[in-house]
Amino acid sequence: MKTGTIVKAVSGFYYVDCDNGVIQCKARGNFRRTKVSPIVGDTVNFSIVDGNTGIIENVLPRKNSLSRPAVANIDKIIIVSSYENPAPDTYLIDRMTAISVFNRIEPIIVFNKSDLGDFSKISHIYKNAGFNTYTISALNNGTLSSLKEEFNNCVCAMAGNSGVGKTSIINALFGNLNLKTGEISTALGRGRHTTRHTEMFKTDSGGYIIDTPGFSSVINTDNIMDFKEKLVDCFKDFAPYINCKYTTCTHICEAGCGILKALDNGDIEKSRHNSYVALFNELKDVNKWNRNKG
Ligand code: GDP
Ligand code: ZN
Repeated sequence: MKTGTIVKAVSGFYYVDCDNGVIQCKARGNFRRTKVSPIVGDTVNFSIVDGNTGIIENVLPRKNSLSRPAVANIDKIIIVSSYENPAPDTYLIDRMTAISVFNRIEPIIVFNKSDLGDFSKISHIYKNAGFNTYTISALNNGTLSSLKEEFNNCVCAMAGNSGVGKTSIINALFGNLNLKTGEISTALGRGRHTTRHTEMFKTDSGGYIIDTPGFSSVINTDNIMDFKEKLVDCFKDFAPYINCKYTTCTHICEAGCGILKALDNGDIEKSRHNSYVALFNELKDVNKWNRNKG
C-alpha cells in the first residue's frame, strides 16, 4: 500500500501525488456507502493495480475541509487584496480570516500592487491584529521573497476577488509551475473556460497551491451553526478583551463589554469590530434548518 495526496479529482478519477509521481486512481467500489468520499487535498492510502493506475483504499483523517469547492487539509489561506481594481474591502478580508480561523487554517494577508500606492494604513490594521501581513507588487520581484517563505512545505489556497493579482503572484513566485504542469494557465484563466475542476499545484518548495475563486464570496464552512456560536473566537485579536460583565454578551452594544471598551481605547481596530458586527448580523438568522445560508 502507498500513501499520497489527491491533487485533482475529475469525473471519478483521482490523481494522487506520491513518490512515484502522479498516479491515476479510482476509489474502491464500496467507497461511497462505507467511507467519506475522497476530495482534493486528502491524504490517501492506495494500492497499485498495474504499473500506473491505482485504487484508493482509505482516506486518512482530515485536518479540515471546505465544501465550496471541496478541498481538505489546507494549512494557509493567502487572502489577496489590491490597491485598486478592486480596492481592499476590510469586510471581505475579515470574513475570510474568521472562516479560516474557524477551520484551523492560518490566514495570511497580502496587499498587492504596491507600485500603485500606499498601503501602510490598512496593512497596519492587520499587523496590529496579529496577522502575517505582506505588502507586495507582483511586478517587483524584490518585494516577494519573504512572502514566498509562507508557501514552504504547506498547502496554501489563494483567495481574493478577481483582478487582485493572484495569478500574477503565483506566476512571479513559481513561474515554473507552468512548465511542470502545463495546466496552470488553463486552470487559472478565469472566464475563459466554463468547466473548472479544483486542482492543487506542487511548488518547488515542498508545498501545494490551490487557486479557486470559490473562497471569496461565500461563507465556506459546513458547520455554520457552530461558526455562529464561535464567531467571537474567530477574531483572535479580541481574545485578550473578552472579560465582559455578562456571560451572554454579544459584544455589540452591551454595558460592561470588554471588547467595546478595548474598541474605545483603540486596542481593537474599528474596522475589525465593524466586520464582527456585520458577520454577527449576517449569521443572526441562520438556524439549523438553513445551515448553508450565505
Ligand atoms: P487574479 O484575477 O486575481 O488572478 O488577477 P491577475 O493576476 O489576473 O491580475 C489582474 C490584473 O492586475 C492584470 O492586468 C495584472 O497584470 C495586474 N497586476 C497584477 N499584479 C500587479 C501589481 O503588482 N501591480 C500592478 N500595477 N498591476 C498588477
Ligand atoms: Zn462583550
